[in-house]
Amino acid sequence: MGRVKNENLSRSEARGRSELIEVENYDVALDLRSVLDPEATGYISRSVITFKCNEPGAGTFVDFIHDGIHSVMLNGIQLDPDAVVDGSRIHLADLAAENQVTIVGTALYSRSGEGLHRFVDPADGRIYLYTQYEPADARRVFANFEQPDIKASFTFNVAAPSDWQVSSNSPLAVCEEMASTPGFSIWRFAPTERISTYITTVLAGPYHVVEDSWKRTLADGTELEVPLGAYCRSSLAEAFDAAEIFAITKAGLDFFHELFEYPYPFGKYEQAFVPEYNLGAMENPGLVTFTETYVFKSRATDAQYQARGNTIMHEMAHMWFGNLVTMQWWDDLWLKESFADYMGSLALVEATRWKDAWVAFANRRKAWAYVQDQLPTTHPIVADIRDLEAAKQNFDGITYAKGASVLKQLVAYVGFDAFIGAARQYFRDNAYSNTTLDDFLTVLSDASGRDMARWSSLWLQTAGISTLVPEIEYDGGRLARVRLLQDAMDPVTARTVDRPHRLRLGLYDFDAGGALVRTDSVELDLAGAATDVPELAGRPAPALLLVNDNDLTYAKVRFDAASLQTVLSALDKITDPLARALCWSALWNMTRDGLLAPADYLGAVERFAPAESDNGVLQVLLDCARTALDRYLPAAERTVQRERFVDSVRLHLGKAAAGSDQQLTWARSLAALSRSTPRCAGYIADLLKGTERVAGLTLDTDLRWRFWQAIAATGHASQEQLDTELASDLTAAGRAGHLTAMTARPDPAVKAQAWADAVAGSELSNQLLDATIDGFTAAGHELLDPYIEPYFQSIESVWAQKSIEIASRIVRGFYPLAQDLEPGTEPRQHAVVVRTDEWLAGHSDAPAALRRIVIEQRDHLLRALTVQGRQLVQAF
Ligand SMILES: [Zn+2]
Repeated sequence: MGRVKNENLSRSEARGRSELIEVENYDVALDLRSVLDPEATGYISRSVITFKCNEPGAGTFVDFIHDGIHSVMLNGIQLDPDAVVDGSRIHLADLAAENQVTIVGTALYSRSGEGLHRFVDPADGRIYLYTQYEPADARRVFANFEQPDIKASFTFNVAAPSDWQVSSNSPLAVCEEMASTPGFSIWRFAPTERISTYITTVLAGPYHVVEDSWKRTLADGTELEVPLGAYCRSSLAEAFDAAEIFAITKAGLDFFHELFEYPYPFGKYEQAFVPEYNLGAMENPGLVTFTETYVFKSRATDAQYQARGNTIMHEMAHMWFGNLVTMQWWDDLWLKESFADYMGSLALVEATRWKDAWVAFANRRKAWAYVQDQLPTTHPIVADIRDLEAAKQNFDGITYAKGASVLKQLVAYVGFDAFIGAARQYFRDNAYSNTTLDDFLTVLSDASGRDMARWSSLWLQTAGISTLVPEIEYDGGRLARVRLLQDAMDPVTARTVDRPHRLRLGLYDFDAGGALVRTDSVELDLAGAATDVPELAGRPAPALLLVNDNDLTYAKVRFDAASLQTVLSALDKITDPLARALCWSALWNMTRDGLLAPADYLGAVERFAPAESDNGVLQVLLDCARTALDRYLPAAERTVQRERFVDSVRLHLGKAAAGSDQQLTWARSLAALSRSTPRCAGYIADLLKGTERVAGLTLDTDLRWRFWQAIAATGHASQEQLDTELASDLTAAGRAGHLTAMTARPDPAVKAQAWADAVAGSELSNQLLDATIDGFTAAGHELLDPYIEPYFQSIESVWAQKSIEIASRIVRGFYPLAQDLEPGTEPRQHAVVVRTDEWLAGHSDAPAALRRIVIEQRDHLLRALTVQGRQLVQAF
């Protein structure tokens, strides 16, 4: 499906429209009677919009990405579709003060996860539908004014097979059999509260559903009862742990009611786990949708359960931050995403069994922000988003993880009570309406008694990351003077930004048993380029001085020489899991910055990872190690280091406690690493055959596919073997796992077919496209180099022809990221960097969102080549 040129709504167009009109309600009818016909591409969608116009006589337009408009009737007059329909816009002229427009057209079923996605379950042939709209895909389903600050009440009516489950944001009003079409019924839902288009939703299909409810007595003595529901595909019902999901949901509802002092405003709270989902989850009020990878058919680690719990809490926080109070435009996306991200971890710590959730936040979430914030495309948390394509690219590590990290710093800076006081006031002041940064700063200044304008300008309206470096002078075995240096350049403006940091310095020493424990800490305000810490003068020098202990602020931290020595020789002796995670994070940042040899990072992982008690951290370390092996190590060292590391992973797999999360994590790491080396292929093949066993390790379908993919990539699995495996796992996940293994095979014909299917073809769904890219890229230069030039030749047309979601995955996924630096050459002179620069120079007018992806991939490559060229001396 080609992209229509006027899909890209600009901020100024949106502003003009919200100044002109005010929508009372939508009455939307989706006729899904075609859904069971495998040949049907679309369905009839009717939208009746009742709205006011502040300037009678003026005109506006309605958004609808359609496959044909059948009729447009404005205020009782039929308009000629040929005259008023222009691409994805329907123009309405000469509006009255009070208007009603009825638009009937054909909308398309989606295979890209945008709009109304249609999925056929390979397990049983049943059909499932759900919607996903953010930022602007409701217009793929029904005609509307697609922007967050035109809120309205929505009434949805859906015609679908009578034996299906159909749900939407609001409760069902009535469901009646269609006399005209036996076997089909119409579900009519109650009108919603006033909400934005991007959070409306419809779910339809033979879903498995479980129900429950949650009750609470409110401050005014009334009782609030919220019906709960949980959905998944019928073929996943057996694996669906709805009771656990409800337990977290109820804990979250209790927690947020206490915290926000504003009753849940959207009636019911349902959660649907849906196939081929493009993201983790979406906060549609009354009916949140999640990726069904959160329904664990195979053994999952506690870190995976924690991640799901975090997502449940994140989406729930959005009911207030985002759904009740919504950003005016996508510039202020952070007003919902940063808050929800922060609240996700906070709610886990305060209301669930995951009391260590700030460890995952420090180690995984912040790593995402650190990477993104050092790209040339980074931006302030409060962004400048001129149009929808830019909005789509901004669901990134800055908006989510950096924003949340900065809120954590804000809590340290103003205190938790002031922060929550501000949030409560914000909900009371702005319920059911839209806000900008100023609205939040106003309540924050009131609650904290501080002028927050300066803080905001330094933290929210600048880009880039501060690096904090301790500078120590000694007097024998004592500290004579400790200073903290801040190096912070905004890469967008090239100006120095001296941010105020409220942070803690932790002092660690070995106890009698050899454990490295915190003996003291100092909390201080750091401002400017250098800050003295006089409290520390005269104290005995600690074994480790940890800057940003407790992870209060957002910054890259470095070690002084003695502390680095301690960390590299005794990281596993640190007893506090958060402190350990911060040290791991600092080591990885040093590696990425070319300050620590990749081989030293790998050595640290080999020695200390087996003792890591936090499984989420272990997973991150092993992923980082793989990046170091594949991209940061000089090519000459790679084979030796890789074989050494794989051997060590196999050893740790054998030693890990039987049935532990650690054991499973080592097994996954062995599979991932073995895509690039045949060293353990025979062992893995024996594990798959069952002639070799690891006590306590169950080879369920997820792990089996990982192992098949590994040995397929090195030429140790035949098509016949992979097909036999698929025959015993004919599920959606099995089909994707099989496709990855098939396309991983080191055969030029296989790569050519995968490339053709993904880049030229249009048959692959979002999930199968990802599976194809995953397999295709598991190969070396001889197989992938032939695609470097075709990549640059095709990305512009890919962008023009495919949906933005699909095009983004292709442009990002096929970029030739794994390259080697010839010794003695400059990273910038590398052929792929040069070719990328040529493409960028020749396509200065390409869509900004496309250029952004190419610029980011180039930067990832350049960083890797720079690290390869650093020739650091190994410390160990
Ligand atoms: Zn969110």
